[in-house]
Amino acid sequence: MERKLLLTVSIIMNLVFTIHILYRNSTTWNPTWTSRAAIEAEDAASVSCSGHGRAYVDGIGVLGGKQPSCECNNCYTGKDCSILLSDCPVNANSGDPLFLEPFWMRQAESSAALVSGWHRMSYIYQDGTYMSEALETVIRKLHSVVGNAVTDNRFVIFGSGSTQLLAAAVHALSLTNSSSSGPARLLASVPYYAMYKEQAEFFDSVHLKFEGDAFAWKNSERNDNTTQVIEVVTSPNNPDGKLKRAVLDGPNVKTIHDYAYYWPYFSPITVPADEDLSLFSLSKTTGHAGSRFGWGLVKDKTVYENMKRYITLSSMGVSRTTQLHVLQLLNVVVRDGGDNIFHFGHETLKKRWETLNKVLSLSTRFSLQKIKPEYCNYFKKVRDFTPSYAWVKCERPGDANCYEIFSEAKITGRDGKVFGSEESFVRLSLIRSQDDFDHLIDMLKKLVFQEGVEAHSI
Ligand code: PMP
Repeated sequence: MERKLLLTVSIIMNLVFTIHILYRNSTTWNPTWTSRAAIEAEDAASVSCSGHGRAYVDGIGVLGGKQPSCECNNCYTGKDCSILLSDCPVNANSGDPLFLEPFWMRQAESSAALVSGWHRMSYIYQDGTYMSEALETVIRKLHSVVGNAVTDNRFVIFGSGSTQLLAAAVHALSLTNSSSSGPARLLASVPYYAMYKEQAEFFDSVHLKFEGDAFAWKNSERNDNTTQVIEVVTSPNNPDGKLKRAVLDGPNVKTIHDYAYYWPYFSPITVPADEDLSLFSLSKTTGHAGSRFGWGLVKDKTVYENMKRYITLSSMGVSRTTQLHVLQLLNVVVRDGGDNIFHFGHETLKKRWETLNKVLSLSTRFSLQKIKPEYCNYFKKVRDFTPSYAWVKCERPGDANCYEIFSEAKITGRDGKVFGSEESFVRLSLIRSQDDFDHLIDMLKKLVFQEGVEAHSI
């Protein structure tokens, strides 16, 4: 009797366990769900593209095959990007920060983030906001290790690139304008980043008007000390890389500090920025311009709330997937106090500037911006500026349109006029891929060589 009972209990227990195991297997996570995504990512990464292109997981696959095809760098073509096109104009126009791509390829493992199909599907994080707390923490840490900004007593706000935050900041600061003296005036000293003007004119707010050069305003009669003004101070500046200071001050002046380039790659870190409203951009911090991420440090609560409202109404925050990606990237940066990435990036730009200076030192036709070295609190030494852009002046009176001179030499830069400056300037981007830079140097050599030929033929 007892044995029968034991047998029955044993059968029932076994049944319960079997059902439990079967049920578990059908409902718990399969521990290998990352395998296919990992294989796909490794597959794309293994396509070499002759070192002159890149294959991406979301690229277009080779016909009939599974591997994505190569997307070739400028002026390279062919299935594996091995063919260099002759007579191809070099792109030195946009500030695409591909100079950091080799760093991230070396950090392939530590920087990869895997996105599950159910990753943060909600509009909100657990605390009800649109912002990842973990990301905010690592951003504060980043500023403390680099020493480029004070984050104490500051609100942190995220945007889809600093482009969105710029619009949010201008909106927030122009709201407090008392309309008796007309719209608030947006100003920046020449040469300035064109986006400030373009956004203001495009959004065409009744509260705001782009007024141009801050120096011209300071010295004009319209500067009546009652009109509300917003000055954007870009430091280091785009296009010339100089550490700019505000031109205007007074009770009617509000300032936005655009610190997109205030990183050790480009400039000595002279002091931690301690301003009311500072903007930063991932594009120039890690080089991930395509991820569209930026952040602001804001002192005043009302300004912060108004910026937040702008971000909410325009996009309900930044993509949660982007925030995950950025968290992973910045964790890699801060892990060693930024040592690896800032040394790599600075060394790359230092070499590029040395090469460029060598070529242009042979020229009397073209000159470059000059900036005195300063002490850098990050590298703990006096160092040169290594700006993102060469701000080139065409010195010959006959070369009125510098952009055209370079275009004719098959170098596409950006016209000085775009920056509120003169046609005798052109901006050349130095932070693009190594291929673009090498190509730029080849074309510049040809252009400078012409001077020698001309001199000899006189
Ligand atoms: N500010 C300056 C001075 C810039 O040069 C740029 C882009 N090159 C931005 C802001 C915009 O950056 P983001 O990619 O973060 O929108």
